[in-house]
Amino acid sequence: MTTSATAAPSDRPLPASPEQTAAEHARAMLEALGIPCTGESMHRTPERYVRAIAEMTRGLRLDPDRHLGVLFPAESTNQGIIAAVDVPFVALCEHHLLPFPGRATVAYLPAPGARIVGLSKLARVLQEYAARPQVQERIGEQTVAALDKNLDVRGAACVIRSRHACMTLRGVEAHGAAMLTTHLTGELETDPALRAQVLSYGPSEAV
Ligand SMILES: [Zn+2]
Repeated sequence: MTTSATAAPSDRPLPASPEQTAAEHARAMLEALGIPCTGESMHRTPERYVRAIAEMTRGLRLDPDRHLGVLFPAESTNQGIIAAVDVPFVALCEHHLLPFPGRATVAYLPAPGARIVGLSKLARVLQEYAARPQVQERIGEQTVAALDKNLDVRGAACVIRSRHACMTLRGVEAHGAAMLTTHLTGELETDPALRAQVLSYGPSEAV
């Protein structure tokens, strides 16, 4: 009979947590690359690395659309475009697992008399869609889809300006280059004046 079969439950080693398992693999990955995690400064680097990746992918465990479930009566019957501008975010490029921080403008044009959502919620939706392995285009697409689906809108917009570490720090080394993506729906896409108005809201800077 093996030891493990006879051991009392309390004698058995606790199963490793997902974070511990990930840190062990991260340590092995770094060592395979000739980056030994020894010495006081680097000894805990695999654990810190794993926590950083987990933080930047926390959106995988969240439903961003829940922020659009609490609505308020509009104060105006002729409500214009509502926008959260220069919303900061950090996303993780799914091709390299390197961060791309940026800023976004998230906007919508409510239908006449429609209930509206708190401004901070527009930022939360974008930030939680960003906090997962992503490509910039998909963040914009998912954000406008969430607004279209959960709010009574005449149109939605998400304009993102970002600097990708995988583009600016390696490979093509396009230092300082920013990537701009634009997603517009409804009248914010089709009405030239509304389109020009929402695009004038920026974001003007990537970070
Ligand atoms: Zn990349």
